Formats: sequence, structure tokens, C-alpha cells
Amino acid sequence: MILFIIFGWRGVTFTKENGTFFCPQCGDGSPFKHKTVRNFFTLYFIPLIPLNKLGEYVECGNCQGTFNVEILDYDPEAQAGQVQALFMVAMKQVMIGMLLADGNIDDQEVIELQQIFQDLAKVEVTEQDLREEIANIQSQGINTLELAAELSGELNDNGKEMVVRSAYRIAGADGYVDESEMNFLHQLATALQLSPAHLKGIMAEAIEHSNA
Ligand SMILES: [Zn+2]
Repeated sequence: MILFIIFGWRGVTFTKENGTFFCPQCGDGSPFKHKTVRNFFTLYFIPLIPLNKLGEYVECGNCQGTFNVEILDYDPEAQAGQVQALFMVAMKQVMIGMLLADGNIDDQEVIELQQIFQDLAKVEVTEQDLREEIANIQSQGINTLELAAELSGELNDNGKEMVVRSAYRIAGADGYVDESEMNFLHQLATALQLSPAHLKGIMAEAIEHSNA
């Protein structure tokens, strides 16, 4: 008679800590789980002996986004004020660049930009102010793609995706995404150092959401 002993290794995920944190996508006060993944020696598929730690991350309970553990040290009161403000200004300019990509200032796109910006920044912005800013960028010929390239170093993949998703929403606000807008999206993705495949994925997801 031959007796088989089945052994192996597998990663087991534990929740180390629960609480609330500042989620870059959902904002302050979002629930989180601090998770660690540990390698285990298994016997007959039962994890028996804990081995090395494989990694750890923080998962948001609202959006299921995952972040580096450092996010827990992030004090939105102290640090975010500045970083966030800078990010929002750059983000707004990138969205204006998108809006201008097809050569005309569509009312529907302006309203959509106002809406997205208020959703993200949680501050009121009047249509008047927005139109002035659009006119400014247009007359000064500010290159919003260069701005995006500078922004890319400050952003993780989640942040970059948020920028692209917002730009895509602006592009589609007038009912369709035309060739010049598509071009801008591709240039934006390049400026943010996102691969064409990554951009495709973000757009597919956005289309799925808008159809849902
Ligand atoms: Zn979240």
C-alpha cells in the first residue's frame, strides 16, 4: 500500500486591523481593512505552519480599492489640504483640456465638468468661474497634457485612473466621443504613463458603468 502525503504552500489573507481612513477615491471616514498575506505550509490543504509574510495592503470597504499601508498615516487635515488642492487644480485643467479637444465649448460638457469637479473636490464651483477659467486656458494656450505629465509622478494607478475616467466623462458628455477627443485621451494616458491596454480597460469599465 502506498500512502500519499499531500503537502504544499499557499498564501492566506488575514485582517490585521479595522477602522476608518481617508480613502483617495471615497474621501474621509471610509471603512478599511488592513490585510496581510502570509505564506503557509499546508498539509492535506490545511494551512499549518506560518512562514514568511508575502505582503500587506489596505482595502477600502466602500470602493474595494487597495492602497499602500502608508495611506493610514495620511492625515487629511494636515497634508491633504495642499496636495489635494494642487491635485484638484491640475485635474480641473486636464479636464478643461479634454473639453477643448474637439475645438468647441459644449454647454453639456461644461455642466458635466462642473458636476465632476464638485463630486471630486467637494467644493462649489460656479459655471461663471469655470467658463472664465476655460477662456483663460484657451487664450494662454496652456498645454494641459504637459501638466498631466507633471502630475503623473504624484499619482498612483488609482489616481491616474480617476483622471482618465473624469476626462472620458467630459468627452462623452455631448453624446459621443469623437476622434479628436479620442486622440486627447490617448495622449493623456501617455502623459500619465498608462499603457494603451490600461486605457482600454478604464474605458471599457466606464462604458459598462454608464450602461448599468
Ligand atoms: Zn474607497
